[in-house]
Amino acid sequence: MKTRYTTSILIFLFLSFPLFSQEDYFFPNQSSFDPEIPTPSEFLGYDVGEFHTRHDRIVAYFRELARISDKVHVQEIGETYEQRPMIVATITSPENYSNLENIRQEHLKLADPQVPLPSLEGMPVIIQLGYNVHGNEPSSSEASMLTAWYLTASQDPKVEEYLKKAVIFVEPVLNPDGRDRHTTWANSHRGFPPVASAVDREHNEAWPGGRTNHYWFDLNRDWLPLAHVESQARLKFYHKWYPNVVTDFHEMGANSTYFFEPTKQYGSENPIIPRSNYDQLNYLLEPYFANAMNEIGSLYFTKEVFDNSYPGYGSTYPDIQGGLGLVFEQASSRGHLQESIHGDLSFPFTIRNHLVNSIATVKAAVENKNVFLKHQKEYFESAVEQAKDHPGKGYVFSDGGDKNKARAFIDLLLQHKIKVYQSQKDLKTANRNFAKESSYIVPGEQAQFRMVATMFDTVVEFHDSLFYDTSAWSMVHAYGLPSATLNSRQFSSAGLGEKIDSSFLAAKNYPVSKSDYAYLFSWQDYNAPRVLRELLEEEILTKTAYQPFSIQTGNGLKQYTPGSILVPVAMQKMSSENLHKLLQDLADEHQLDIQAVSGGLSSSGIDLGSRNFEKVISPKPLMIIGEGVSSYEAGEIWFLMDMKLDMPLPKVDILDFERLNLEDYNELIMVDGNYSLLQESGVKRIKEWVDNGGTLIAQKSAVNWAINNKLINEELVKESDTLVKEDTGKLRYDYASAEAREGAKVIGGSIYRADLDTTHPLGFGYTDRDLLVYRNSNTLLKQSKNPYSNVAIYKENPLVSGYVSKENLEKLPGTSSIMVSKVGSGKVISFIDNPNFRGTWYGTNKLFFNALFFGPIINVPNAGN
Ligand SMILES: [Zn+2]
Repeated sequence: MKTRYTTSILIFLFLSFPLFSQEDYFFPNQSSFDPEIPTPSEFLGYDVGEFHTRHDRIVAYFRELARISDKVHVQEIGETYEQRPMIVATITSPENYSNLENIRQEHLKLADPQVPLPSLEGMPVIIQLGYNVHGNEPSSSEASMLTAWYLTASQDPKVEEYLKKAVIFVEPVLNPDGRDRHTTWANSHRGFPPVASAVDREHNEAWPGGRTNHYWFDLNRDWLPLAHVESQARLKFYHKWYPNVVTDFHEMGANSTYFFEPTKQYGSENPIIPRSNYDQLNYLLEPYFANAMNEIGSLYFTKEVFDNSYPGYGSTYPDIQGGLGLVFEQASSRGHLQESIHGDLSFPFTIRNHLVNSIATVKAAVENKNVFLKHQKEYFESAVEQAKDHPGKGYVFSDGGDKNKARAFIDLLLQHKIKVYQSQKDLKTANRNFAKESSYIVPGEQAQFRMVATMFDTVVEFHDSLFYDTSAWSMVHAYGLPSATLNSRQFSSAGLGEKIDSSFLAAKNYPVSKSDYAYLFSWQDYNAPRVLRELLEEEILTKTAYQPFSIQTGNGLKQYTPGSILVPVAMQKMSSENLHKLLQDLADEHQLDIQAVSGGLSSSGIDLGSRNFEKVISPKPLMIIGEGVSSYEAGEIWFLMDMKLDMPLPKVDILDFERLNLEDYNELIMVDGNYSLLQESGVKRIKEWVDNGGTLIAQKSAVNWAINNKLINEELVKESDTLVKEDTGKLRYDYASAEAREGAKVIGGSIYRADLDTTHPLGFGYTDRDLLVYRNSNTLLKQSKNPYSNVAIYKENPLVSGYVSKENLEKLPGTSSIMVSKVGSGKVISFIDNPNFRGTWYGTNKLFFNALFFGPIINVPNAGN
């Protein structure tokens, strides 16, 4: 069969390529294809690369392959926020498909250290080809269609052998919502003929671009924290299969070439992963990719860069599951045709490079099938062995008075197939007591030991100082749950209670007694802000306690810490019956303890009518977004408000700021970003609004902005205050050392210990002054001269986990993490660290909730003389 592709003449140039048919271009030296199987271009009605293919058309093409061929089956594994289906196509021989459940059961034995190695004779290798996790790196999804067509239509005996010896899962689009944002952009700006000039609008997406998902999150960071529906669905499928080889296709700058693994040796590898992964498997596959690229004359590089350490990457997570994750990076045409130092770079050229590496992956996995299958078996066996030598025999954590936060963490552990047990006995460690009712044990010795260590261990020593991303990922710290590593004596004395399964996550009843006087709930629970927000929505009068108290409730004497919410009955517009029903519904829906009290006299501390209860004012927040603003941080807050509070958040584009009436809002949120587009008039308006009582919540570099524009009279630590000693004495460095030297100065993401004023409204809901914070910036804020303004400051020796240079670490103690500055009748709340990082910092979300709900009522005292 000569040409299965439409023979329309291609209307644009391929890099170093004259005009040929599509088949000759994408599949040179291939001859025999089944004519019954439509090529992507036959199905789509245009040549591959001529347009960016919409997600629904990609899905339709895979469904068409499944309709026509018994080698292809399509399943939906989930749905995005914008309700796009997430599909996986299974491509394998019809014989394998009819025996798929048996194949799966046999394969799962490789991930179970308790059972012997099954016969590998006839056992297929499991390959997962994943594409387009970054929506505006679009070439790979186009390549996925060509790959699927090739595997289905080729009559080459070699390809038929692939389908016998492998079960191939193709996930053509990992980020459908982001892809379609970019697809629409690229197609709608496409010129006829295409415009290569890099300044053309086609090549320069508007904010926030298509890289991220609906909530502007990077899904290639979410394999570990699982904040998003896409990742949750993907992981569920992943753990059904434990694939042996997993691809993750990307794009990089237009002037680059192509990258495939191995990644940089030692420097950016994950230390928990056995060396065999990097030293053997990666080098086994390297020549396959090199040959594929040599054949078509494409330039490439390996080993120099790309971080492979963070377990939330799509190319690293598989390494922690006994598979091999592979990252591929292609220079991007970001549109249909773009100028580059190598000449005009065309979309089809980028597609072809990913195509040949997709096919090379299948070939390599099949030809080394038993190496991968054995590796997986040895991986899980060695995990158990490694656990025996690990200093921690197990880990304990407790809910710290916050059942719903612990519940969310346990959900995360279960999604990663980590075994967790109720504590059988009370346990005392060096720093803490862990009461058995509220404590949980995670044994080290289990198949998922390396994920257990990932969740609980802290790391402060690194081979390298250059990180592409975060260097700290211990999730128990992100959740802010009290935890401890157990030595063997502690571990055996704790004892394993009941094993926790998904039934633990099922909703329970939270009966609320009826009261004619008042109701109370603690602010310590993660879901308390959600319930407060629902009450404010119903215009229920609520008050928050500024002092602790204890009081007799329908369920006995209860202690309440500052921040606890009081709902009086008699002074509401709602009847006492309806109020009771509302609270009962909220208690059940949000799994929150709400107590009824019959009078206002407390057993200790303040009474319910005390002046130390402040009326909560409904927050009316507004967030500035758009050009110059960090879409990640804005997205984190948008996601938090939608998902955790069910609260609409108006997001104003910075270019529309002039037109809005700021007086309609009582809070303004400014995340990390460059706000120069606000100009002088915008700064003046914000100043006046704060002066008249507004609350500005500023995060990271927005704090610099507030200082530089004299909104607040606070001071940053200047570079000159803390000139690194080494720098002062030596004024000459080798050119080649620049990248490592300068990179090491960046605080790329690490966890620190701060001291939190838990009596401050911004510290409400916390009972421990020891606060773990996530920092990924170099902004350092000096303590305020007003001693009441320093809500959280960095402790001595603050590093908990992650990489930081010695020089930077020395600067941190005593600097501010959270500050509130009085400005006229209003205030500015400064967050130097990100309390909502990646939607997973449950431990510091409460700080942001506090700013949101209590911001308008916070009073900043002045120190007297
Ligand atoms: Zn990417």
